[in-house]
Amino acid sequence: MRSAIEPLRLPVVVAKTVPDVEQTFWVNLVGRGYPSPSRVFRWCTDRMKIAPTTTYIKTQVHASGEAILLLGVRSAESTQRRRSVARYDNGQRLNPHNSLQNCFVYKPIVDLTTDEVWQTLLQSSPPWGGTHRELVTMYRNAGGGECPLVTDKSEAPSCGTASSRFGCWTCTVVEKDKSAESFIEAGYGDLEPLLEFRDWLKAIREDGAMRMATRRNGTLNFVGEGRLIPGPFTLEARRQILDRLRAVQAEVDLPLISDEEIDAIHRIWAEDTISMSKLEPA
Ligand code: SF4
Repeated sequence: MRSAIEPLRLPVVVAKTVPDVEQTFWVNLVGRGYPSPSRVFRWCTDRMKIAPTTTYIKTQVHASGEAILLLGVRSAESTQRRRSVARYDNGQRLNPHNSLQNCFVYKPIVDLTTDEVWQTLLQSSPPWGGTHRELVTMYRNAGGGECPLVTDKSEAPSCGTASSRFGCWTCTVVEKDKSAESFIEAGYGDLEPLLEFRDWLKAIREDGAMRMATRRNGTLNFVGEGRLIPGPFTLEARRQILDRLRAVQAEVDLPLISDEEIDAIHRIWAEDTISMSKLEPA
């Protein structure tokens, strides 16, 4: 996009929003031991997507007085999506964002059907050259669906739903990662170690031996008739996850975790070791 923008002299700046290193997926999961996200404890969407994007939008509003957010949301995505679009629609082209002050939402493709989106893409060429065919093939291989940009908690359910979609490769909210499975079936065998690791990450949150009894604040948490809800992963489990993640990283030869994240993880482990030793009976 950057290289296409310059010759076209478009007033566009490409900015990438990422979570603060203290709040990344690995620092929370491997460092603090948060259990792999699930439907009941989906701690990731806010930290990974909503918080960094909200900070960015607020910075823009602060600098210019107001900002317009272009969202590729479409009513035809799902019944739930149709409802949430209708809830915030004021009948104007620009709708005030429901939580960000002086931010207005413009939804240029809200009324397009999925077929119309594909037709439009196939009938036009991307400004950066080539065609959209590769994109069409990628979606076809994945079996459709996506985990879109989320800027609001009310939109979050589409992130990590049961349908196949593109989201984080580590997503353990879905039962199965149908997109990755379809890709592997379509011949992308090098994704297999990533899928195996995701499946393992999901399985170990059910393993009581990998989880601490107490929560990070030292309390025990019960539901119903005294059933204990396990706390974070044990330090030993966190070490195992990091070792395995590094092994997968070497196998696929892709950067999966950064040195800054590993430093933050080691610091949190050291802090946790100290606080746990204080909780142990003398
Ligand atoms: S795709 Fe999954 S892991 Fe990623 S933010 Fe969404 S729910 Fe969380």
